Amino acid sequence: MNPTLHLKIDIDTYVGTQEGVPNLLRLLDRHQARATFFVSLGPDNSGKAIWRIFRRRGFLAKMLRTNAPGMYGMKTMMYGTLLPAPLIGRTCLAELQQIPKAGHELGLHAWDHVGWHDHLDEWSEGEAAAEYERGWKAFGDLFGATPSCVAAPGWTATPASLSIHDAKRLAYASDGRGERAFLPTMGGKAFATPQVPTTLPTLDEALGRDGVTRENFAARTLAALKPEALNVFGGHGEAEGRGYQAEFEAVLAGALAAGWRLAALDEASRTALPRFELLRREIPGRAGLVAVQGPAA
Ligand SMILES: [Zn+2]
Repeated sequence: MNPTLHLKIDIDTYVGTQEGVPNLLRLLDRHQARATFFVSLGPDNSGKAIWRIFRRRGFLAKMLRTNAPGMYGMKTMMYGTLLPAPLIGRTCLAELQQIPKAGHELGLHAWDHVGWHDHLDEWSEGEAAAEYERGWKAFGDLFGATPSCVAAPGWTATPASLSIHDAKRLAYASDGRGERAFLPTMGGKAFATPQVPTTLPTLDEALGRDGVTRENFAARTLAALKPEALNVFGGHGEAEGRGYQAEFEAVLAGALAAGWRLAALDEASRTALPRFELLRREIPGRAGLVAVQGPAA
């Protein structure tokens, strides 16, 4: 069988849903590619993320390097602060329902993306579960089914969030970064829900580092693929679905031309998985700590 490139698309914001989703569906259809979309359904509080500038080292530099105001638009940068936070699930119902209709896999990303990313570490297990439940319920209301997969906003996972995955009996979660599918151990506790990690640097991490430009992003991404291993590309409705559609299209077209199969995450093998630590670490090009596959456990 041809080697496979799995496509994971995170949708974080109102604009990423309203504009990014239709664009991505067209683009994927053009290449007959099936992807997994992880959607955010509650308030778009992106404006609050601006406050991270003051709290997190490296955030301002990254905002400028990746042109975040250009990527998200000024309105998005004010949601939840100067402008009220739009409820994504309610206002973008038509766009969201097109995702499963087009045959793509659909998973839950977040209720409040910014809230999860900023507060998971300080929440009690009960608070984390309540927030998770808001997204879970909204997903059921909108799509008439429960999610079979979840991806942590901002790759922010804790033992609390992993134990909720287990309670929900998910088929898998895609919370972190790594090299292969595995069963996670975190904080000394072994969990049952498989992790299918993102293996490649995201566009916002790669641009401007190690000579990566918009022009060579696709070539660099394709050069990093490993035929014998798990390959997961992580895109965003706000980036690949808006200002960076050409870069994403170049990845898809280049992969197909080189004989790769494009597939959703549910097609990644999850049999006889080894157990690895899931750690929190800094990674190049991203501010803050993200969940990363560690040593064998
Ligand atoms: Zn996200």
